[in-house]
Amino acid sequence: NLTRARMYVNHVFETVKRRNPNESEFHQAVKEILDSLVPVFEKHPQYMENGILERIVEPERMIIFRVPWVDDQGKVRVNRGFRVQFNSAIGPYKGGLRFHPSVNASIIKFLGFEQIFKNSLTGQPIGGAKGGSDFDPKGKSDQEIMRFAQSFMTELYKYIGPDTDVPAGDIGVGTREIGYLFGQYKRIRGGFEAGVLTGKGLEYGGSLTRKEATGYGTVYFVEEMLKSKGLSFEGSTVVVSGSGNVAIYAIEKAQQLGAKVVACSDSDGYIYDPNGIDLETVKKLKEVERKRISEYVKEHPHAEYHEGCSGIWNVPCDIALPCATQNEINEEAALILVKNGVKAIGEGANMPSTLEAIDVFLNNKILFAPAKAANAGGVAVSALEMAQNSMRYAWSFEEVDAKLKEIMTNIYKNSVKAAEEYGHPDNLVVGANIAGFLKVANAMMAEGII
Ligand code: GLU
Repeated sequence: NLTRARMYVNHVFETVKRRNPNESEFHQAVKEILDSLVPVFEKHPQYMENGILERIVEPERMIIFRVPWVDDQGKVRVNRGFRVQFNSAIGPYKGGLRFHPSVNASIIKFLGFEQIFKNSLTGQPIGGAKGGSDFDPKGKSDQEIMRFAQSFMTELYKYIGPDTDVPAGDIGVGTREIGYLFGQYKRIRGGFEAGVLTGKGLEYGGSLTRKEATGYGTVYFVEEMLKSKGLSFEGSTVVVSGSGNVAIYAIEKAQQLGAKVVACSDSDGYIYDPNGIDLETVKKLKEVERKRISEYVKEHPHAEYHEGCSGIWNVPCDIALPCATQNEINEEAALILVKNGVKAIGEGANMPSTLEAIDVFLNNKILFAPAKAANAGGVAVSALEMAQNSMRYAWSFEEVDAKLKEIMTNIYKNSVKAAEEYGHPDNLVVGANIAGFLKVANAMMAEGII
């Protein structure tokens, strides 16, 4: 005996599957949102009548393009570039670029779809987008990275701008790549439009605290969540997967708050350091030398290196911060974490837990901070970077950090409030999805059927 709202949601999901066949990641992201929204449609049927859901699951635009470049051996290479401009109801399209061999339409659409709700949660005026390429930066020379980035931008520039669409980084795209992309955009446009990209270097319009923002933000969010149960990072054992930009600054903030971080990883394997990870070594290996995490044990022989990144969830901890990539925690890993006594999960990566893993955490009453809310700090500070670029002015590290902390606290509060209002207290998945949705839905209603 399904309610009208449930039937409506099921119908929209069937349409998404039919229209986007074989795109499992996109289906997963849509399913999570749609299931959360049933109580909203039950309470406010007007959203059904306006076709909000049918419209929100369909990208406003998806751009796919050829990216030809020449490698160091003089051989012509071709990759595929993507930009999905998913929703512009509340602001210009905003979202990162991912350079990774796994990138395809499904990955880009799942990321772009998540970005709509995440960006809304930040309280900043930014719409949802994502882009990237199946280009693999691993093992490429600096020159190859530059030639690829220039070719990528030579096509992408037509579709972006400070008031239309503002890309940034994601996996495989950091300050170096943003620099090459920005240089090429500037050259083609013939003007210094600082606000066209975020995550820029500090010398040419970047914001202080942008580099730290996603990782710090995740820890700020989890800190709020822990506080509500009388817990904290102080004295806790933490496992952080990944060793990229998100992981490094999640480790840094967790350590500053008195946690002992005992493990981190890359796509080849993980390290376990019972003394607590020496972050300077990780930063040097990953940010400067671009080496594998296995090298860590050369400098810290008492630490262990284990092949295979998924084994990291066997390491007992109080708090787990998945900061690597999508679906890195499946049902089995979730059950192991629970068995080993985990108290809280904070998602720094995008969609790191499968739907089954999330069910395991929620059914076992584990504190669970969903990605859309917990990793919104990165894009939030991107919006602050845009604001500073528009003012032609720069705030101090402390000013941006304070704003980031306030934004994360507000996201936490708004998610808790929405969860309670719609009958799912303590369920931040439902709370974040509803809170993120309502602002976008109300803007879409106000702007008419477009
Ligand atoms: N890639 C980041 C994310 O997943 C940041 C995007 C941005 O700063 O625009 O939210």
